[in-house]
Amino acid sequence: MRLSEDEIIGYRVHHNSARGPAKGGFREHPEVSLNEVRALAIWMTWKCAVAGIPYGGSKGGIIAKPDGSLLDRKDALVIREYSRDLKSRNAIGPHLDIPAPDVNTNATKMAWFVDEYLKSSIENRDSSDWLTGDAALTDKIMNDFRLLHTQPSFPMETPYLDKCMEVLKKYPEAKCQALAVVTGKPADKGGSLGRGESTGRGVFIALKKAAAYKNIKLKGATAAIQGFGNVGRPPAKFLHDAGVKVVAITDASGGIYNPSGLDIDAVLEHVDTTGAGFLKGFEGGREITNDGIFALDVDFLVLAALENAIDRNAYGVKAKVIVEGANGPVTPEGDRIVTGKGTFIAPDISTNLGGVFVSYLEWIQNLKNERWDLDKINRLLEDNICMIFDDIIKISQERKIEMRTAASIMAIGRVAVAELSKEIAEMVITSHPHLSKEGKGKTLSEDTLEVLRNYLTYLRDDLMKRTPLDYWTLVVLISNMESVLYTHNISDESIIELIKDIYTEATRLFAAFVKAKPDNDDLLMAMASLPENVRKQL
Ligand code: NAD
Repeated sequence: MRLSEDEIIGYRVHHNSARGPAKGGFREHPEVSLNEVRALAIWMTWKCAVAGIPYGGSKGGIIAKPDGSLLDRKDALVIREYSRDLKSRNAIGPHLDIPAPDVNTNATKMAWFVDEYLKSSIENRDSSDWLTGDAALTDKIMNDFRLLHTQPSFPMETPYLDKCMEVLKKYPEAKCQALAVVTGKPADKGGSLGRGESTGRGVFIALKKAAAYKNIKLKGATAAIQGFGNVGRPPAKFLHDAGVKVVAITDASGGIYNPSGLDIDAVLEHVDTTGAGFLKGFEGGREITNDGIFALDVDFLVLAALENAIDRNAYGVKAKVIVEGANGPVTPEGDRIVTGKGTFIAPDISTNLGGVFVSYLEWIQNLKNERWDLDKINRLLEDNICMIFDDIIKISQERKIEMRTAASIMAIGRVAVAELSKEIAEMVITSHPHLSKEGKGKTLSEDTLEVLRNYLTYLRDDLMKRTPLDYWTLVVLISNMESVLYTHNISDESIIELIKDIYTEATRLFAAFVKAKPDNDDLLMAMASLPENVRKQL
């Protein structure tokens, strides 16, 4: 799309929605391209599947110069235009596609984004964002909002969002779906506690798991970090607090190195004050380049800047463990070289999912008009990342493959199960060339039944048996089978048998999750989404 009177180009790409609404951040960077956004959208599909959350994958990007060169006012106008344009194309929505922050975007920008979305709904007199259970109250809320139109505001202010927060506080029974159109909002404007540092916190949790797996004690170990933004900052602090010597950090302005360990509190203070957001000028260390830090002999190298950081320069990498905080920081060539040397890689799709996981928790809190405490959020995050790491290690050991391939098997298998079950349901429900003239149900043609039988057999014997499934995939699968069986009154015995087998297997798997984590809130939510008859069997 063309923004700012054709001066700026923006993109939004949806990759897959088999498991739920598409989910993915948007960035502002001069090197954004359609192909980059496409690749990042695909990543999101796999990441959400690995995270075991009910989302597909998407991504967005605006070709813009980072920091400073886009004045806040102009930036706010661009982001508002981006939000409005996407809404008018029906490309975003709380149950359709949910953006979030990424490179050079943050909570403030998400607030502008949702403010514009709300404003546009009010202009269109669309009350569907509000679920109050009371038509008179919905009308009253809409009228209150309309008054805002008469008051001028600056693009950096968020009067609609502020009003929304006020209304939700006043009427706790009301729910504003629109609030869930974007995640990563400020904590006092519909954001979740803990979201800001969630990706970095998750990176640190994954690093701890990798350290335990590789028998590296944190206390006294060494680390280097590339990138000191949303993702790179929290691990620096957590590592430092855990007794790890963080010897080097780089960002877009350069790098700092101190073999005795950097004083992370002083680094943070410098970046936040004198350094105006950058490391340059920090006096507690010498200068170092990116290639310089890649060649350091450290236990952990955390990559938290941009994609393709390690390519053929991988020959110089000496770290024992690489932790991918960024998306795609190691190219396939780089991967081949470092894994050939025996370096352990904690891959991006399982390591940097903390942000999207807490985004999911934010989305649920918005949809339910609830606010969860930080302990609960951090507990769910830690549980999830640890469970995922263990599952991926299991696949990697069973199949004697690297973590990245194991994570991909897990992700692709989960999406394939959701996709195929959706396909099966659509085949029966919508008119389809395979369907006989008479339509659906009992009258499916022999050809269609044969295709269905093959699909179902493949789903049961191949995909479900060979893929480590998560509970949300099971919800999607069971719901799709449910609609095939009951809505469409299939009478073919062999098909009913196959669907019953799938039900039995899916229920058994679900029960195993419940047994392992009887009080996991997320699992309980997934369980509540199952059909009544399946829930009774658990
Ligand atoms: P950010 O803009 O907050 O930080 C990026 C950091 O990288 C900055 O410190 C920047 O100065 C630095 N940097 C840029 N170019 C560099 C270079 N050539 N060498 C060294 N440092 C450089 O962005 P972010 O949100 O932290 O995202 C970083 C990466 O993590 C991206 O790949 C992003 O897609 C990914 N990611 C972000 C999130 C999130 O929640 N923000 C979640 C998952 C993945």
